[in-house]
Amino acid sequence: SERTLVLVKPDGVSRGLVGEVISRIERKGLRLAALELRTVDEATAKQHYAEHDGKSFFNDLVEFITGGPLVAIVVEGTRAISAFRQLAGGTDPVEKATPGTIRGDFGLEVQFNLVHGSDSVESAEREIKIWFPAL
Ligand code: ATP
Repeated sequence: SERTLVLVKPDGVSRGLVGEVISRIERKGLRLAALELRTVDEATAKQHYAEHDGKSFFNDLVEFITGGPLVAIVVEGTRAISAFRQLAGGTDPVEKATPGTIRGDFGLEVQFNLVHGSDSVESAEREIKIWFPAL
């Protein structure tokens, strides 16, 4: 069994898609190990997205992710990391994500692509420590 860090980003929360995302996670057969609605501060956001520091969209990304409440979730199960990324679909909701995925069904713009999921075992461990240090 594996753990991954999922975020329903502020656009997903404001559009009322939290239940939709959780429902897809559960129907896939994955389990919720931790879940919290919270508004994140700038330092935590920058830590989470550290790999993108210096990129053209970094400041917009941090501003967006701190701009409203999000839902942070630890998802657990067999191959949870790639299983959730399959549910999410590609980063660009139109050009990459296919219909049937969260981004493919509900997204239009790269910046507002609704969810985050860790992309490797190393990222998952690093991100879970940031969001749920007690786990
Ligand atoms: P995430 O890490 O959120 O699951 P991802 O792994 O699919 O997304 P990354 O390349 O790691 O995509 O980018 C992280 C996030 O930064 C994206 O989900 C998106 O919200 C934002 N982002 C990426 N590229 C751009 C861009 N060109 N313009 C604006 N925002 C972007």
